[in-house]
Amino acid sequence: MSFATCLNCIDGRTQLPVIYWIKENYGVEYVDMITEAGIDGKLSAESSKYINSVYDAIDISVSKHKSEFIFIVGHHDCMGNPVDEDTHKKQIVLSVNNLRKFAFPAAVIGLWLSAEGAIEKIISR
Ligand SMILES: [Zn+2]
Repeated sequence: MSFATCLNCIDGRTQLPVIYWIKENYGVEYVDMITEAGIDGKLSAESSKYINSVYDAIDISVSKHKSEFIFIVGHHDCMGNPVDEDTHKKQIVLSVNNLRKFAFPAAVIGLWLSAEGAIEKIISR
């Protein structure tokens, strides 16, 4: 069994497109999903308080499920983080950089889910 880890919004419109895209592009069977409303806004914050709160979930996915990829998703029309697209994309980059500081043995990759349902890679190792 192979797993990837995903930090995604709670928004129901974001789950299946992201899961299908990750499975198709990274060849994993399952995607462990950690959700929070407007998660890119939370992860991009200067304080690591939010990351600390999901640390255990990420750690289980990476160390027990041997996930080699951690995705951070921002999406169009996000009610939990109602900022414009440019701001989302900047926050996704900040989120990736913040999460990399925790040095999980996995690549951290940012994704943007557009209004058209397309997924764009924002940053990758
Ligand atoms: Zn959202």
